[in-house]
Amino acid sequence: MERSKALFEKASRLIPGGVNSPVRAFRSVGGTPFFTQSASGSRLTTADGRELIDFVCTWGPAIHGHNPPEIKSAIAEALEKGTSFGTPNPYEVEIAERVVSMVPSLEQVRFCNSGTEATMSSIRLARGATGRSVIVKFAGCFHGHVDSLLVKAGSGALTLGNPDSAGIPAAFAAETRVLEYNDLAAAEELFKKEGESIAGVIVEPYPANCGLILPDPGFLEKLRELCTRYGSVLIFDEVMTGFRLAAGGVQEKVGITPDLTAMGKIIGGGLPVGAFGGKRELMQQLAPVGPVYQAGTLSGNPLAMAAGIAALRLLVETNPYDRLDKMGQAVRDALLEAAKEKGLALQVPQTGSMFALFFSDSPVRNYTDAIASQTSHFKTLFHEALNRGIYLPPSAYETCFISTAHEAGDIDIAIEGLTAALKAI
Ligand SMILES: *Cc1c(COP(=O)(O)O)cnc(C)c1O
Repeated sequence: MERSKALFEKASRLIPGGVNSPVRAFRSVGGTPFFTQSASGSRLTTADGRELIDFVCTWGPAIHGHNPPEIKSAIAEALEKGTSFGTPNPYEVEIAERVVSMVPSLEQVRFCNSGTEATMSSIRLARGATGRSVIVKFAGCFHGHVDSLLVKAGSGALTLGNPDSAGIPAAFAAETRVLEYNDLAAAEELFKKEGESIAGVIVEPYPANCGLILPDPGFLEKLRELCTRYGSVLIFDEVMTGFRLAAGGVQEKVGITPDLTAMGKIIGGGLPVGAFGGKRELMQQLAPVGPVYQAGTLSGNPLAMAAGIAALRLLVETNPYDRLDKMGQAVRDALLEAAKEKGLALQVPQTGSMFALFFSDSPVRNYTDAIASQTSHFKTLFHEALNRGIYLPPSAYETCFISTAHEAGDIDIAIEGLTAALKAI
């Protein structure tokens, strides 16, 4: 860790907290973050020369593992032609066609540079199209660092937004209502009270930024029904789940058609890309055809689009979802078994290549359940796993990811290491 420590010390003098995105700083698990020198397939090589099996996968994007040859060569080919044009380029049309064909609810799509831009623009579009201002979100769902979405429940005031970050005027947060995920009655009641003012509902269909939470049967269907009844825009934030759980995301798995979908992460093949799309009628409200303004100097960047095309094409060609799910199940079963032997109360929600660990007696259905879990156990597990060469997300509230580059051997090593790490708690 000598080199990582030296880099982090220097970084901390130059960059707030030494990082460009807070969770990378290891604050919630303690210790100094390692720096990554290079990454290939399922492995990271640290600046200190250690090799780690990676279950963070750059926080979601790397579904094909690190630096896959197909994406590398797509970027190299695009690079020969130039890095940015500021005019339309052919890659934009190709990726748009691909995304519209993969994601069931999309008729049109607009590309931007991050998931945050995608959700921010989606709620602006919902407000612009409906002429209403209230946005409904769910506690524990993360939609990037958008002002009016950085709000969760203030204790005791579930439906009155309190800003989660300094620097967000109360007036912005006041247009946000926060509900508990999976609470159908609360959603119905809120719509009954102020449905006519609700511009939209934004939801991670499978919340994956608060551990991993799965919907109760009927929950997402009810949100669809309420939005339809009250003329509100249903926004699925599939920045995390899109292209990961199925080619068409959760909406394909559950057969629900949102009005708008926010995308990111996998869609850029490891380069910074976001996108949002939906019904033509809604998307036509965007500039330059409609009155809702949205723009970006580097949006549709040719290198990023080429990387995204390669990532999406690989998914369609290889259809890896069953294989990923089997690996996810194997890890889940092994963790549950090890916890049982040790007498630890553990929940391992898993779907496809995503899983999370909650040290809790009962299944986690919402934010309140999630924050009641025993996070000190997770801290110990994280460091015990890292000592054994396995990199889990450095926070109890993040989801673990498996990539197609994880081979049976990696999973076996990981299961052995994680089992030993659990037993060390
Ligand atoms: C990561 C994430 C975002 C934000 O995306 P960025 O590219 O980090 O801005 C938004 N929504 C969800 C569900 C995410 O997981």
